[in-house]
Amino acid sequence: MSLYKNLTKEELKKEHNLLMKKYEEFRLLNLNLNMARGKPSLKQLDLSLKMLTEIDIEKFKKTKEKLDTRNYGGLNDLIEPKQFFSKILDLPTEMIFVGDNSSLNLMSSYVNMAMQFGILNQTPWNKLEKIKFLCPSPGYDRHFAICDLYDIEMIIINTKEDGPDVEQIKELVEKDELIKGIWCVPKYSNPTGITYSEDVVKKIAALKPKAKDFRVFWDNAYIIHGFSDEDEKLLNIFPEAEKNDNLDMILEFCSTSKITFPGSGISAIAASKNNIDNFVKILSRQIICFDRINQIRHCEFFSKENSLKEHMKKHAKIIKPKFDLVLEKFEEELKPLNIASWSKPKGGYFISFNSLNGCAKKIYDVCKNLGVILTSPGATFPKQKDPKDCNIRIAPTYPEIEELKTALDVFCLAVKIVSIEKILQTSYNDI
Ligand code: PLP
Repeated sequence: MSLYKNLTKEELKKEHNLLMKKYEEFRLLNLNLNMARGKPSLKQLDLSLKMLTEIDIEKFKKTKEKLDTRNYGGLNDLIEPKQFFSKILDLPTEMIFVGDNSSLNLMSSYVNMAMQFGILNQTPWNKLEKIKFLCPSPGYDRHFAICDLYDIEMIIINTKEDGPDVEQIKELVEKDELIKGIWCVPKYSNPTGITYSEDVVKKIAALKPKAKDFRVFWDNAYIIHGFSDEDEKLLNIFPEAEKNDNLDMILEFCSTSKITFPGSGISAIAASKNNIDNFVKILSRQIICFDRINQIRHCEFFSKENSLKEHMKKHAKIIKPKFDLVLEKFEEELKPLNIASWSKPKGGYFISFNSLNGCAKKIYDVCKNLGVILTSPGATFPKQKDPKDCNIRIAPTYPEIEELKTALDVFCLAVKIVSIEKILQTSYNDI
């Protein structure tokens, strides 16, 4: 395989013809494969099935503090789930508020509260002229969708190898009172897979935003989702924030969606007492209590010492070979051609792929025509607009290995076809 840039136009055209023959072969297979969303595979879901079948029902009738979870109770009144998340997040139980089946729901509820009622007696955001959020990109599309819903202006923040560009963040938040939040996925980020360095965490914790009600949405969705014993370390942001008198600025989110059952797990927000009290006041007008039976079910399932750790190792054992396969394919098929780059995460659910500029949408289309669905191009940027049209989020967890192999063959073929077309259109140096 030669570097495409070393080939003449004629050689490139010849290569393109060969690739189009393969394209035809794939087309005849009528494939129907999906690498679009970061979902656990069926084997991963099976890991948690015993939670539903092997449970002592007496535990629902009488919790540690003699509460009966079959009946209405209070919001955040069970100690067991607080202890569960306290261990995961390494924070005291007093800082934990346990929610229902979705951390995203907690995030959007918080934004909704801030819009309607304001945070800690500050002006409600919807009474101000257009407010703004900082969006390290590429990032998680559903964060951006929350901003879209409330018509919040999104400012793209560049992502470096060790996290978002903190200098850019600092400069913006210090001078603009209308910047009210930032989305951060600090560990095995969606989609880049990076973990923020200590330096980045410290600098975010030390921000001095002009807006008193500026909040860091620290979405730690992949906090215990490393693939191996070389799990990357993320500095706990709260002690750092406390040193800077910034405890109220941080809201940390997490859930068991990628631990047990997405859509049927439990979630939590970790925050200062001020923030939790403020949030509970509003939530308590919306709901009497969350699904406490599910909260206890989860805590019982992980009640044995180290059971959560062992459980996550089983997830890793299923996921890691899929990530290895993607990386091997890319190394083998694409690296020698120098037409793309990609991240090499040590955990999480995604690989971030960058094609030549202006190629992502076309790669998506070619894959779609061959029956392989990818995350929509642009989804990893605010307003679904990737300025360079080059980023594609690869989500390898859901398909089984054989399906993944085929999907990757199609993907690599699409990358090559589209890249050659791009090179033929422009001179290589202009790309
Ligand atoms: N946050 C991130 C970064 C995610 O990648 C996801 C799901 O993919 C979520 C939140 C959704 O979490 P939940 O199911 O707890 O709402």
